[in-house]
Amino acid sequence: MNKKSEKLAIDNHKNQFSKDLDILDIDSLYIKYLGKKGIINSLFSKIKNLSNELKKDIAKDLNNFKSTVESEIKNKKASSGNAPKEHFDLTYPVKATSVGNLHPITIVTRELYQFFHYYGFSVQGGPEIEDDFHNFEMLGVPKDHPARELQDTLYIMEPEVLLRTQTSSIESRVLKNTQPPIRFVTGGKAFRNETGSKSNGAIFHQFQGVCIDENITMANLKWIFSKSLKFILGEDTKIRFRAKYYPEVEPGLSPDIECTFCKGDGCEICKYRGWIEIAGGGMIHPNTLEKANIDSDKYSGFAFGWGLDRIAMQRFKIRDIRLLINGNLIYK
Ligand SMILES: [Zn+2]
Repeated sequence: MNKKSEKLAIDNHKNQFSKDLDILDIDSLYIKYLGKKGIINSLFSKIKNLSNELKKDIAKDLNNFKSTVESEIKNKKASSGNAPKEHFDLTYPVKATSVGNLHPITIVTRELYQFFHYYGFSVQGGPEIEDDFHNFEMLGVPKDHPARELQDTLYIMEPEVLLRTQTSSIESRVLKNTQPPIRFVTGGKAFRNETGSKSNGAIFHQFQGVCIDENITMANLKWIFSKSLKFILGEDTKIRFRAKYYPEVEPGLSPDIECTFCKGDGCEICKYRGWIEIAGGGMIHPNTLEKANIDSDKYSGFAFGWGLDRIAMQRFKIRDIRLLINGNLIYK
């Protein structure tokens, strides 16, 4: 092998490369010329067989050819819009795509917070594991009170530590530490020892509100019930009020809405009544105010609680309450 023939071989490849540059795509060019078994590597591997005086010249020529090939491929990439980006790293973790939607309970809770925030209510929270005092005693339900049987309690340590049966326990905590005017709402899970059915579950969600100030009456409560129910379920929602007993209020009332599934005709969701009991409330008992060191002669207030699960079911046409906390997507 002499210098002339070796030089010629490189020139041939150079000519071929300028033709290939127009014909082949970038990957094929790279593999053919710069790949492990590509032309340039194979030419370099032949250098070791040359005489010392030829080695230097041919190596220089080959290096020039290699640089040309590299820069031409880079130019071709840049002009085709595939220019390598700076710090391009194939091993870099991909950005996670967000999937799914907010839970129906979260949606209605946030909308209610928004509504009540507009009317000057703050948002409060409290523990799901409660003590007997905040869950019952403070709310006018002493240990021997029959109302306890309405709320079949799940105990962590009987008789003092329990899973809260109602979010009114948060009301106990806030009233104890605050003086009027008081306006707040709260939302969260409550727990009762219930057998699961289409309309009842052991875990359910409540939304609670309290307003204590001078001259607060049932009229204020009825107004806020009507306004907020229509805000969540639509202006054409039909509402009726019934007197109802709740141990922590006096007097108590319950707003029902016309069942959105059957429009009042009666179906299994509304237990063929045409109406759904969706919330309850009333005037806070003066004894509860006094226990919280609030002057019941000067101040009055209302408290109310919503069943968020039922609101979400009516709003999103969910026919079974268990779907709200069940992870099985094929469960019907
Ligand atoms: Zn119905």
